[in-house]
Amino acid sequence: MKKWSHEYAKCQNCGSERFPHKGRGYCKRCYPLVKRMEKIDSWDLSNPQSLKGYPVMALTYRNENYKRKLFIELKYGCKAQIKERLDFLRHREAKLTGQVQIDGLTLEMSLARIASKCRKIKDYRRLFFGCAGSIDAHFDAEQKRYLFSLLNRIEENIPWSGINWQKIFLSKRYIDNMPSLLKQECTMEDENPEDYKEKSYKKKRTKE
Ligand SMILES: [Zn+2]
Repeated sequence: MKKWSHEYAKCQNCGSERFPHKGRGYCKRCYPLVKRMEKIDSWDLSNPQSLKGYPVMALTYRNENYKRKLFIELKYGCKAQIKERLDFLRHREAKLTGQVQIDGLTLEMSLARIASKCRKIKDYRRLFFGCAGSIDAHFDAEQKRYLFSLLNRIEENIPWSGINWQKIFLSKRYIDNMPSLLKQECTMEDENPEDYKEKSYKKKRTKE
């Protein structure tokens, strides 16, 4: 049988052999994420050359304290989102290969995610909300696994939408999960709050 790569039997993140090897033991889905994570890790506010992919707008504040806090928040938030994506891919493979059992809630969430991508559906959250119990009542374990594998074909063909900058700003979840020293620096009171206006960082980023 053909080996997945010279040195590795499967992807070092998602554990799958379904996708070709891309680099350093990672498949073509996981490797770009690992590389992006390394790039973000090397972001250094005092070295503009290192800030590839960092939002340009976040560098325009005159208040150095605020700029620094924002930097910590954005860097940490980006890394957290990439880790979430890598975890998501790994957990998905575990479900596909039967290491994790598929329940009604997993299928409800999968249906909701797919519905959220259908632009013309106005309130996708309500479409399948609460149907987990009914799915459990109608399908046995094998049927649920098969259903999941079908839905997965749709889901894994929807490209990842990338870093959600808005989410980093609007949710303080990332700050809450920071190591305490970073958190302290990030939440320290500032004397000039006028620079704290919320801006959109969606498109204006330095070239990657
Ligand atoms: Zn992988």
